[in-house]
Amino acid sequence: MNIFDKNSKKYPVNKTEEEWRAELGEERYTILRKAGTEYPHTGKYNLHFEKGRYVCGACKVPLFDSEAKFESNCGWPSFDKAIEGTIEYRRDTSHGMIRTETLCANCGSHLGHIFEDGPTETGVRYCINSLSMDFENE
Ligand SMILES: [Zn+2]
Repeated sequence: MNIFDKNSKKYPVNKTEEEWRAELGEERYTILRKAGTEYPHTGKYNLHFEKGRYVCGACKVPLFDSEAKFESNCGWPSFDKAIEGTIEYRRDTSHGMIRTETLCANCGSHLGHIFEDGPTETGVRYCINSLSMDFENE
């Protein structure tokens, strides 16, 4: 896992914050572009187990297969694996915690965090906001 401290890179999808805000609406903009967090147990994909794939809510690039989703009871959609190369990792020291933030590698939008306490063989738990994603049926 390649973790970096500061986000200085240019992404393939690169829009101004004003463009993102107009496109996403206030609620999703706050999560995706301002690293917000939705309230636990409120997201529409928290208890969603259809077959398909989850795409970035901002740029629509596929991020997770539904097969990687599991019920973690943490209140947010949880995955044990991402589609390779789609996620970027950044050290996050906000809120008095040291965590690893997950971002879309294609547009730099905030998705959630990753924790190394996953119950499956990958050992990791991606904890992702529903508002950071859209779902596409198989
Ligand atoms: Zn994206």
